[in-house]
Order: sequence, then C-alpha cells, then structure tokens
Amino acid sequence: MKFKRLREKMVSTQIEARGIHDHRVLEAMRTVPRHLFVSEALQDQAYGDFPLPIGEGQTISQPYIVAEMTQALELTRDDRILEIGTGSGYQTAILAELAFRVYTIERVRELFIRARKLLDQLGYHNVIAKCSDGTLGWPNESPFDAIIVTAGAPEPPEKLIQQLKIGGRIVIPVGDRYSQTLLQIRRHEDGIHTTDLGGCRFVKLIGEHGWKEG
Ligand code: SAH
Repeated sequence: MKFKRLREKMVSTQIEARGIHDHRVLEAMRTVPRHLFVSEALQDQAYGDFPLPIGEGQTISQPYIVAEMTQALELTRDDRILEIGTGSGYQTAILAELAFRVYTIERVRELFIRARKLLDQLGYHNVIAKCSDGTLGWPNESPFDAIIVTAGAPEPPEKLIQQLKIGGRIVIPVGDRYSQTLLQIRRHEDGIHTTDLGGCRFVKLIGEHGWKEG
C-alpha cells in the first residue's frame, strides 16, 4: 500500500508534470513495483527523483528518464523490442508491460542472473534474456520494431541500426564518458532521421562497438 501510494505520487509529480503524455507509459509506470528492483536497504528511496546504485558499479535509471525513453520508442502491443543493458530489469519490466516480446542483453553476469530471476518471479514471461555483449545486437532475432540502449555510447552502433525494421526506432544516449545526448533515431527506407531529446548521464556502454573496458 505504502509503495503503491509512492508510485502514484512519482508518476504525477515527476513524470506527468514534466510532460510525459503517453497513457500506456504512465499506466506501466504505475504498475511495475520499482522498489523490488533495488536492494532492501534502498526500497524506501526507490520512488525518489534520482537514479540508485544496483551493485557492480551500475545504476537503475531515474524514473523520469525511463518514462521519457519508453515514450520515445513509440511502442505498440505487437512490437518486438531489443533492450541493451538489463541492469536491475526495471526498464525491461516496463517494456514487457507495453509490447509483445522483449529481448534483453546484460554483460555483467551477476546482474543478468538477478534480473532474470526477479522478472520470472513477477511473471514477465514475454522477456527473453541473455548475458553477452549487447553492442553486437541479437542478429538471430532481428529485425526489431524498436531498440533501447540504457548505457552511454560513443556513437550509435551501426550493428544495432542494421537490426531495426524500416520505420523502427532506436533510443540511445550518445556522447563522451561524462555526459550524453539522448537520441531517437528512426530508420527509413533511404537512411535515418535523428531527433535530439536532450541531455542525460548514463554509465558506459562497454563492448566491441561501445567503449573499451577500463
Ligand atoms: N535499464 C537499467 C539500467 C542499467 S545501467 C535499469 O533499469 O536498471 C546500464 C547497464 O548496461 C549496466 O547494467 C551495464 O552492465 C550494462 N551494459 C553496459 N554495456 C553493455 C553491453 N555492451 N551489453 C549489455 N549490457 C551492457
């Protein structure tokens, strides 16, 4: 009950108030129990207006950023989505509420195992997870209707854009190690169209087509 109230407040004061208008996104944010995606010691802070540590040097994104990125994916119920950077699995659960199937990739084994267990427990059976380098995408399951990258890349990985359907959208933070710009890139028949969604700050996307480790 307490957490449900905190969640309602989070959606009205942090998300709706800042202009997120997609009703399905708002409903998903009201539904997914965000406090279960952080350690017990941090549960009381789970609905605050900030990111939180999830271990292994990684973070669960601020609620508003999750909502903004999700809205920018322009999802429909039939969509198949690729997510790079499962982390806690919170964003994955939001996507699973909104789309047909979510393929998610995490490179850190401990996070992958924890997220998969929690998503199973919560009954998100339309999530397929694997532990590997997400900058290579998931060629066997491509093309996707939408791709979301929840770690900052030096540039949009060409490999991922190739795995989008024509008309598909990728939402990705691009920039240097310290600050990035959130981009929505739409693939067209004859190229791509990029929309700048504003500044943001994410942990590094590490991999063959991202930053090098260390
Ligand atoms: N969406 C997550 C945010 C996690 S932070 C959440 O809601 O909790 C970003 C995650 O991306 C980290 O867990 C990090 O380990 C992962 N990551 C970084 N580079 C990656 C790569 N190349 N492939 C898959 N995951 C990666």
